[in-house]
Amino acid sequence: MPRTTPPRPRDFASLVPALRPLARPATRLHPRPGAPTVHDSSVGGPLLWPMDEPWPVCEVPHKRRTGHRIADVRREREILRRAWARSPRTGPTPDETALLATFRRGRHAPHLTDTDPIPLLAVAQLYAADVPDLPRVGDTDVLQVLWCPYERHGPQYELNVRLRWRRAADVRAARTTQPEPPLTDRPDLVPTPCVLHPEPITEYPHWEALPAGLRSQIAQRWEAETYLSALSTAPGWKVGGHLNWRLTGPTPLHCATCGAEMRPLLTVDAREWDGGTDSWIPAEDIAHARDMGANTPTDIHAGRGQLTLAVCGRNLLHPHRLISQ
Ligand SMILES: [Zn+2]
Ligand SMILES: [Zn+2]
Repeated sequence: MPRTTPPRPRDFASLVPALRPLARPATRLHPRPGAPTVHDSSVGGPLLWPMDEPWPVCEVPHKRRTGHRIADVRREREILRRAWARSPRTGPTPDETALLATFRRGRHAPHLTDTDPIPLLAVAQLYAADVPDLPRVGDTDVLQVLWCPYERHGPQYELNVRLRWRRAADVRAARTTQPEPPLTDRPDLVPTPCVLHPEPITEYPHWEALPAGLRSQIAQRWEAETYLSALSTAPGWKVGGHLNWRLTGPTPLHCATCGAEMRPLLTVDAREWDGGTDSWIPAEDIAHARDMGANTPTDIHAGRGQLTLAVCGRNLLHPHRLISQ
């Protein structure tokens, strides 16, 4: 089923023409739980990865012997999903509750030292055929995103995110099993497998990133709050578009290598919509928008909730940056 963003209140760029040159294409990914294959665009699905290419690992020093077992995280979600489907009012049985209580954070990998390489976790795979505006390196046609499930890298305690662009046709024999780290710092860094329903939309700059003159033109027609929540940027997982600087306000984004402006590549969002952004609920989801978990299909909550991977506008291979809002 496709997903369709309801029309914005009005074609506001024609009412405020100075906004038009600031428009940027974005693609809402609309992840929904499913069973993606290596040939699908996905969040938390298997990656199209050549048998003979080493799987990326994290070697940045940090504790990795303590955490939640990733197998437990998956099992817990499955138990809860079945329990609530079976008994929508009471949920898990006492036996299931007792079992879930054993899935604790602990020193589950005592053999690991702080620098042992651990496999990165597959987070997303995007085929350009599904996301036409996907920034690409050369003639590549798929982007793969992996991370280490510990937010403990560098002085800022960031995620260690790895991007891999490749040409799907180059993969003659794909891996059928994928390495995984044994533990995660937090369950909400482990994605629940989702298929995607990409939808192209248009976004405009964050309110505070607009020139003052333009802000006052817009303010003659809409509340700033309406512009922020319903007109400028969409919630949820997406490619491209503009950054929602909701917590920090805009900060300059320049590539550390060449100084070019950086742009959002992928935004990883804890919620596909919430009370403040319900105008963006896809038409197909409105009837079930308040169901448990409907707005949190990926089960990911990275950074402060909305994590954007920004890339250099001149060279995608220059180091990316993470912006957490
Ligand atoms: Zn790491
Ligand atoms: Zn650069």
